[in-house]
Amino acid sequence: MTQTDTTPFQALGLALPILQAVAAEGYTEPTPIQAKAIPPVMQGADLIGIAQTGTGKTAAFALPILHRLAVSRRAAPRRGCRVLVLSPTRELASQIADSFRTYGARLGINVAVIFGGVNHGGQIRTMAGGVDVLVACPGRLLDHLAERTVDLGAVETFVLDEADQMLDLGFMPSIRRIVRALPAATQNLFFSATMPREIHALASELLTNPVEVSVTPPAATAERVAQQVLFVEQARKRALLAELYADQALSRTLVFTRTKHGADRLTRYLEDAGVQAAAIHGNKSQAQRERTLAAFKSGRLRALVATDIASRGIDVEAVTHVINFEMPNVAESYVHRIGRTARAGAAGGAISLVSDEERVLLRDIQKLTRQTIPSFDRRNDRVLAAVQAADAVAERAAPPPARTEEPAAPRRTDRHHAAPGATPGDRKRRPQRRRFGQRRQAQG
Ligand code: AMP
Repeated sequence: MTQTDTTPFQALGLALPILQAVAAEGYTEPTPIQAKAIPPVMQGADLIGIAQTGTGKTAAFALPILHRLAVSRRAAPRRGCRVLVLSPTRELASQIADSFRTYGARLGINVAVIFGGVNHGGQIRTMAGGVDVLVACPGRLLDHLAERTVDLGAVETFVLDEADQMLDLGFMPSIRRIVRALPAATQNLFFSATMPREIHALASELLTNPVEVSVTPPAATAERVAQQVLFVEQARKRALLAELYADQALSRTLVFTRTKHGADRLTRYLEDAGVQAAAIHGNKSQAQRERTLAAFKSGRLRALVATDIASRGIDVEAVTHVINFEMPNVAESYVHRIGRTARAGAAGGAISLVSDEERVLLRDIQKLTRQTIPSFDRRNDRVLAAVQAADAVAERAAPPPARTEEPAAPRRTDRHHAAPGATPGDRKRRPQRRRFGQRRQAQG
């Protein structure tokens, strides 16, 4: 414990096994949200935390909750839990559970996750004896409540994480039903990057004299992210993206598309351009998503192509760049997206490819974040035009091979729901295999 003796974490009064786990993670001092949230939550207060992901908010609630579990040890209730955390996505739920396991490793607490897409029976068996901490997505948890395989009657602390995202995903009615299954007197903690009216309303109903902590204004973008806008024709975005990857500094990048099919198509294009890429979105099975994330985390992928929902909660150290291949329709999503880089103090870059049709979205983002993002005009670019023409020729020449890992969606669906920016070539043909070096030569 000599290492932690002088850390400010020590000053917060957390139980020794928690301090040891925090030290083992290499954390030297609390992040601002942790410094503000840990003391009141340890005291049992309700809390509203305005913080985007990447600020250390998970530990901000997990550490004091674990402390309270450690000082009031009791058996977990059968089919129930002492702590319930609701998360909008499976990835985030897994990550929150992992954080509890990591920080609570020396406390002997047990943690379970419940979400859809995986075996029901395993979850029933895990819950039968009760757990200390349950991290759940709303839909599957409601199934368990209906079947009485989970009972929330003994919950002591309730955490609603990424509340604004819950709202966006239409989970509010589900959350209200879950809340009705909780005992009257729970400690309630709400975390949200923004505070829309509906979340505020639920918070005022549920929280008692909550302490409010806010680490960034709701619309602030991560401070250390160097942002850049590239204006380009929609049909030439792919060519520009491949060009960007000539810069080896783009070593671990998250690329955002608007649709799942757009993500798949772009992934194939990048692979054909010699960039190791994979897509992650709601059509992929849980096993596929986990494999892809593991490959990304280990550095085997340079590009993880994701939709907004799938990207939620992806917590990968050292994401070098976030690339908006398509701009989000909702300005707040921009803040979330670029919050994926520059996590926990590291520097990062955010590059947005903006077509003329998307300028209105860019305007909203700049208004929300109260900043003007430096921009460069790559429209009417001869090199990009040449690559686009070469791609079109290659696509006409090569028929699309069968893709076994593709989601079941038939190609007809693809045609009807093509991304707004999809080029005709996207829909017809798979490009011929060519390496990035060849592409560069063709350009020269
Ligand atoms: P979160 O906002 O909870 O998604 O956390 C973002 C990242 O910050 C995670 O990778 C954490 O492991 C890391 N982190 C959390 N607290 C600290 C801390 N006090 N010092 C350094 N890194 C931290």
